[in-house]
Amino acid sequence: MKPYRIAIAGCGPAGLAAALLLHRQGHDVTLFDRFENPQPLGSGLMLQPTGLAVLDRLGLTEAAVRRGAPIRALRGLNKHGRTVLDARYADLGRPGIFGLGIHRASLFDVLHQEVTRAGIAFVGGAVIAATASASGKRAIVFVDGSMSDPFDLVVDALGARSPLSKRAFSPLPFGALWATVQWPHNCGFDEQLLEQRYFKAEQMVGVLPTGRRDPEDNREASFFWSLRGDAYQDWRDGGLEAWKEQVRALWPACEPILAQISTPEQLVFARYSHRTARQPREPALIRIGDAWHSASPQLGQGANMALLDAWALAVGIEAAPSLAEGLRLAFGWRSGHVALYQALTAAFTPLYQSSASFPAAIRDRVLAPVSRLWPVSKIQALLVTGLFGAPLAELGLAVPDYEALAPTASSTSALASGLSQSNPPTTRATS
Ligand SMILES: Cc1cc2nc3c(=O)[nH]c(=O)nc-3n(C[C@H](O)[C@H](O)[C@H](O)COP(=O)(O)OP(=O)(O)OC[C@H]3O[C@@H](n4cnc5c(N)ncnc54)[C@H](O)[C@@H]3O)c2cc1C
Repeated sequence: MKPYRIAIAGCGPAGLAAALLLHRQGHDVTLFDRFENPQPLGSGLMLQPTGLAVLDRLGLTEAAVRRGAPIRALRGLNKHGRTVLDARYADLGRPGIFGLGIHRASLFDVLHQEVTRAGIAFVGGAVIAATASASGKRAIVFVDGSMSDPFDLVVDALGARSPLSKRAFSPLPFGALWATVQWPHNCGFDEQLLEQRYFKAEQMVGVLPTGRRDPEDNREASFFWSLRGDAYQDWRDGGLEAWKEQVRALWPACEPILAQISTPEQLVFARYSHRTARQPREPALIRIGDAWHSASPQLGQGANMALLDAWALAVGIEAAPSLAEGLRLAFGWRSGHVALYQALTAAFTPLYQSSASFPAAIRDRVLAPVSRLWPVSKIQALLVTGLFGAPLAELGLAVPDYEALAPTASSTSALASGLSQSNPPTTRATS
């Protein structure tokens, strides 16, 4: 493997992880992003054992766990108080296994600090419009018409709305409002659960613990409310109080969270799209992460898939005699798992976000009771953790050693309790 000149377009989880891995292999890597100083947008997400397996190989799992909140189960109740989602990590039969609720900014910091420490070149304020190929190489074209030097490889990690993809972002009917809030202490919420409440599949409210953004912070959560894209203006026009009434009616315990929300700007409306690029590989170009495949976050896999794509890319390039062969290998290793989860997410999304009644009826009356029976309970846990389809073994990855991580996970929680009792709550801007 010769050292290549590689441009990585986009500083999300896919781009940052790819930059680190390829730099460590000795390639000459340059990162580009539209932001002058790279920064994450959005609220919290779940890191699954798949994503953590990649962070583990980067030596960053402990840093992530220190900032996150270990999650033992996903639990959802319908309006009648019946449990209709109960996905437990313990059903995998691996001692200590958990998912990690983490603020996007924390995941970004963990990766970005390492990129900075490694001295990887970064070009900020670079709004990318296209690429141009010549003599087997590829250059980046910016919106102002200027062009980069040619690279052996351009990695498109520009996310779901990548301008380098020919397939447009076409939003699903439902998205969600997201806010970052202070963790509601002593209010009946369980810090080890991602909890949701549903009215049919029309309304959904959820709370995801996300740990702390830095050691001085109080613990936080991501709070989300499902909303149709075409109802967003009505939501704004209706005023916060009318919306809060709807949330209270569905989940009265959310009152301390609602009390933290005083302006609509604290809630960011995220649109989702199910989209898979027609050509993940072109000469001297590969798409990874959401630029290749994006989906609604119902199964919470996007960032984890992005990390797996980055890992596969690095391993493919290292293993192959040519760059083109390396890209072929990487795509081959990932394509089955990507197709599987794209199909599964498309199938599961209407159970949680739909204006029709029958998907929720199937969820509540058929899937929920069956899901607690073995082996369906284990299949459900495999689905949620991203391990369905066994994506790790062929990439030479393994589920992290959760027993070794246990002291970090529990000491973080203990530290968090101590700090949050002694610190008055601070107000943080919602992102
Ligand atoms: C509300 C919500 C909740 C989610 N929850 C989860 C979850 O629980 N678990 C999970 O695994 N995933 C979740 N996801 C999905 C996850 O966020 C994405 O899959 C993941 O961020 C994809 O990473 P990426 O690096 O491919 O792209 P992104 O994170 O989108 O990063 C793209 C980067 O490219 C830059 N960029 C974009 N366009 C340009 C341009 N033209 N020029 C220059 N730079 C540009 C951006 O600034 C950004 O830095 C969620 C998504 C949403 C919207």
